Amino acid sequence: MSAPILPGATIGVLGSGQLGRMLALAARRMGYRVHVYSPEADSPTGQVADRETVASYNDLDAVRAFARAVDVITFEFENVPSVAVDAAAELVPVRPRGTVLYTTQNRLREKIWLDQHAFPLTPSIPVRSTEDLLSALRRLGYPAVLKTAGYGYDGKGQALIARPADAAPALAALGGQDAILEAYVAFEREVSVVAARGLDGSFAHYGVVENAHHQHILDLSTAPAAVAPAIARRAEAIAREVLAALDVVGVLCVEMFVTVDGELLVNELAPRPHNSGHFTVDACVTSQFEQQLRAVCGLPLGSTEQLRPATMANLLGDLWQAGEPNWAAACAFPEVKLHLYGKRQARRGRKMGHLTALAATPAEAAERAQAARAALIPAAP
Ligand code: AMP
Repeated sequence: MSAPILPGATIGVLGSGQLGRMLALAARRMGYRVHVYSPEADSPTGQVADRETVASYNDLDAVRAFARAVDVITFEFENVPSVAVDAAAELVPVRPRGTVLYTTQNRLREKIWLDQHAFPLTPSIPVRSTEDLLSALRRLGYPAVLKTAGYGYDGKGQALIARPADAAPALAALGGQDAILEAYVAFEREVSVVAARGLDGSFAHYGVVENAHHQHILDLSTAPAAVAPAIARRAEAIAREVLAALDVVGVLCVEMFVTVDGELLVNELAPRPHNSGHFTVDACVTSQFEQQLRAVCGLPLGSTEQLRPATMANLLGDLWQAGEPNWAAACAFPEVKLHLYGKRQARRGRKMGHLTALAATPAEAAERAQAARAALIPAAP
């Protein structure tokens, strides 16, 4: 096995959002340098990195120059084109490998891979035309969810089809992109497992997190989730098997539905730290970002022990619509931690930051996180 990449070395990060920012903060705390590759200047990661290369992912000369200047490359954004990852991998280790990215950046490929490896998943059918869609709807029934095969996140490129009349407009809205139709899952709850795998195959996970979405965007994540121990063990085993089968080096999140019958269905994989793992920064011995750093540097994984129950509440741009949020009011909750990502434009639906509330029980943490978030909204004049 190759020698570990030690503090003082330079971590290259492809992608420059909040995930890269929190990775960079963890890396700098441990004495690493951080060089980020970003399509735009003054990015959330660039603001806290040592260096920011501003170039397109398709500029392979810029990608190669970046790769030559770092000791290892990881990413915080899985929609980096394969050609860029392949060009970088000729010069420096890329962890996780490009094939992990390739499999998980496209829903169709991901579902085929999950199915081939016998993981339980939502029934789905690839769709290219209106005829395909109508025949898929006959097989899966109503309601069903139409999703783009590539480049979808936070419910973007998704439409619920409740009746036959919804079909044609839903497909037209995808603008001719490849799509899949998924059966609608009347889930009891949504959960995720954030896990890490080291260069030596070691494995660690953060247990089961319960996720609540609002308009397809993650709203609240509470850990530990209120699921039966048998379901938790099964979810953790699925995560372990996914990371091993994909040969991941780094962090990966498995999002799952728990059905009313207590069955687990894999919804999506994210081959990087995940929004539902942000609570680990304030509540666990080792954050998911430090864990990613340790894994990609070939260091031993840290303890994933959770010190207190926690809830993460996302802060979307919507909160800014009535003016600057009242930060002092949220900070008046002594067990709530404020995280802001340095984004200048607060657009609706844009993830601007999050709060993490710690408490004696998960239910109290959830209440506290929501109370602190409500306190952010400025009172009407
Ligand atoms: P995704 O982008 O696939 O993670 O979807 C975002 C959110 O939409 C999920 O977390 C669910 O809340 C909801 N969703 C997605 N697919 C389905 C489905 N097949 N059945 C029910 N809800 C879904």
